[in-house]
This record gives sequence, C-alpha cells and structure tokens, in this order.
Amino acid sequence: MNYLRFLNSISRARKPSPLRVLAELINKSPPTMITMANGYPNSDLFPFEEANIKMKDGSTINIDSKAMGQALQYSSTSGLPDLNQWLLKLQDHLHQPPTRASNGENQIQLTVTNGSQHALCTACEMLLSAGDNVLVGSPLYSGASAMLKPLGVNLIPVETDGDGLRVDSLKKALSKWSPDNINSSLDAPKVLYLVPNGDNPTGGGLPLDRKRQIYEIAQQYNFIILEDDPYYFLQFNKPKVPSFLSLDVDGRVLRFDSFSKVLSAGLRIGFVTGPQALLQRINYHLMASVLHTSGMSQMFVYKLLETWGMERFLKHTQTVSDFYESRRDTFLRAAEKHLTGLAEWSTPRGGMFIWFRLLGVDDTYDLITKKAVEKEVLFVPGISFCTDDSKPSPYVRACYSVATDEQMDEGLKRLANLIIEAQKSSRQ
Ligand code: PMP
Repeated sequence: MNYLRFLNSISRARKPSPLRVLAELINKSPPTMITMANGYPNSDLFPFEEANIKMKDGSTINIDSKAMGQALQYSSTSGLPDLNQWLLKLQDHLHQPPTRASNGENQIQLTVTNGSQHALCTACEMLLSAGDNVLVGSPLYSGASAMLKPLGVNLIPVETDGDGLRVDSLKKALSKWSPDNINSSLDAPKVLYLVPNGDNPTGGGLPLDRKRQIYEIAQQYNFIILEDDPYYFLQFNKPKVPSFLSLDVDGRVLRFDSFSKVLSAGLRIGFVTGPQALLQRINYHLMASVLHTSGMSQMFVYKLLETWGMERFLKHTQTVSDFYESRRDTFLRAAEKHLTGLAEWSTPRGGMFIWFRLLGVDDTYDLITKKAVEKEVLFVPGISFCTDDSKPSPYVRACYSVATDEQMDEGLKRLANLIIEAQKSSRQ
C-alpha cells in the first residue's frame, strides 16, 4: 500500500514532537537513567497518593501509589504501555488481524484515545482535504456528520438497510470511476466510513458476506475503510460477525473501538487500531494536540482489565449485550402495540437504536422537536442523520437503552397519537 496517497498535506507536514519522543524513551529507560531533559513536573508535589475504587460487585480495585504516580505524570502518546499491550492482545484475540505478523508499514498498531470520536475525528483530519469525495453509510451517525461536513468534503451517501451498507448502492456510488485507473483518478474516494454493528441510527448490522464484498470493492477501488464499531460488543446475533480488521490482508482498515457502551462513557476511553503508517500520523497529530489521553482514565480502565482478565471482561460485555437485547425486545413489543400501521422499522441487530419511518408524514422535524416535546416525549428527527439536510426526512430515531417498560409503552403511545394527528392535518 502506498499510504502517502491517503494523507492530506497537513498530515504529511506533521513531524514527531521531540519532547514526546523523549517521553517514549523515558518510559523505556531503566531506573538508573539520569534525566534532565524533559519538562516533567516533579510528581512529589502532586497531592494524590492512592485510590481504592469500590466496585458494584462489592470488590475493591486498588490504584497503589506507584500506579498513581504513573497515571498522574505525562506518558506515551499511544497510551499507557500496559494498557496499550492489553488492548493489542484483546484485538489479537477478537480479530486476529492478518497483518499482525507483518514487519512492514501495514503492521498493526494501536493508540488509546479520548473515546472513539476523538480517534475518528483525528483520522478524518489526517486523510481528508476540502473537495475530497467520501463514501458514507446513509443515514449517517450525526457525530460523523459533525466532523466531516466542516472539512468541506463531498459526502457520497451509500444506502443501508437492516443488514447495513448495501453493496449494490456502493457499486452504484463508485460507477463513475474505473478500478483500472483508480490511482490516477484524483477525485476517486479515498475513504469509506461505516458503522458495521448496531448502526447509529438504524440498528443495522453487516453480515460477513457483505463485509467480504465491501472489502473486495475497497481493494479494487483502493480506499481505506473507517470501521467505526462502538457497538461491537452489543451484537445480538451470535456468534459475532468477524470485523473488517479481521479481513484486512492489505492494511486498509482503521478500526475504532470504544469502552463507552460497556465500561463507562465518561471515562472517555476508546482506541484506534490499524497499519503503523497511518497510526504514526495519528500519533503525530496527538503529539501536537492532546499529548495523550488522560492517564487517570487509562489507569482506571487498565486496573479493571488487569484485575478481571480477558475472560471476565468478555463475560461482562456479554451481560451488557444481553441487557440491551432484552430492552430491544420490550421496545419492539411496545412498537408493535402502538405503531403498527403508523410506522415501519426493521429489527435492530445490535446497539441501542431503532429507526422508524413514519407513514403519511413527510417531515418529522416539527413533529419531534416541537409537538413531541410539548407532549413530553423525546426522540431525534431523521434530518439529524441525513447527508443532505436540505431535504425533509420522514424518519425518527429512538433509543431503548434507559427507558423503563412503562416509559416505553407510554412514550410510543404518545408518538402514535402525534402521528395520527399529523396524518389528519396533512389530509385536510
Ligand atoms: N461512533 C458512533 C457510531 C457512536 O454512536 C458513538 C457514540 N454516540 C461514537 C462513535 C463515539 O463514541 P465514544 O464515546 O467512544 O467517543
């Protein structure tokens, strides 16, 4: 892979920060090393000593004074080394990336970030320039719109259904380019962004055969796949579908993982995995922006993972997934009861969202942002997930993660009444 082709001019101009390179060296130095080079504050003056975290199962996780010292000091850009190693082992276990053993530019590396959103935004700022064509799953996660649209890129929507991104729509979107001269076509899309599991907002999930076809198309048209997979652990159908990372023989996948849905959203811990040529540029960007992700958040997560081990962590993710699956089932029952004949939807394959198409309502914006608020029920209007927000949307996104059974029933009853009123007034 010629990775230079994918980097924009800002990313090409980035160089490693000399002080950050020193931070890596210090991390690997023996205790006998005398250092007067780096501008680290003297941690003896930090007031924190140690922490005992009381867990919900009654146990306690201890962050002793040594670990606390490490968490409170500046550290490696790619994350606390112990956490980084743990996560690499996790990726090996879950995805067996084919390029793990490579010693070339496509060898797998990993960097810990402030949630996956931070990694995604950094990757887009590395790959894209104003005017670039970018393939995106449509409807599009509103957080992806928020980072992509200001870059001045041209979003090419690729339709999705309950099984995720549609291969026929991807082929159609690419039909104006030819694989034969793709590397000399300056306007050919360099990137495809998608959410493979529990898609936000549709709840769709890509089966393996579609993933294989999409990966082959990525090879033919030489683009990078941004695999935004924060709902990986919330796949309801078992076994889990292999990831794009596990199919990636070339090193053309950047995979974004998140602990937000399974450990905590507020700790802001996510991680990006991909070829070292691209991870290096992401790290250069981080060296110039956040320096590294909060050491305390990383230590919190590392101590938990170290205490639990991989098996217990995976068991926990299964418990979380089972919970959301049962919330989905309750929500679907309430939807059948109140919305049959008023809306259409497909059964979410994972995650926490369901995507309704309201019948006889062309534009859900006023209905959801005004009338529903007056009736004290909140949803998100479909327009928030449209690549082209100048056109009305008949869709609504609902989230089934926190509402109780009674709230689901009452909330969908209120939505049904609103749809009936809207249908009546459009007939008048
Ligand atoms: N991608 C998608 C599709 C999401 O739904 C979210 C969370 N709303 C994110 C990324 C960001 O997750 P994180 O909390 O890890 O930044």
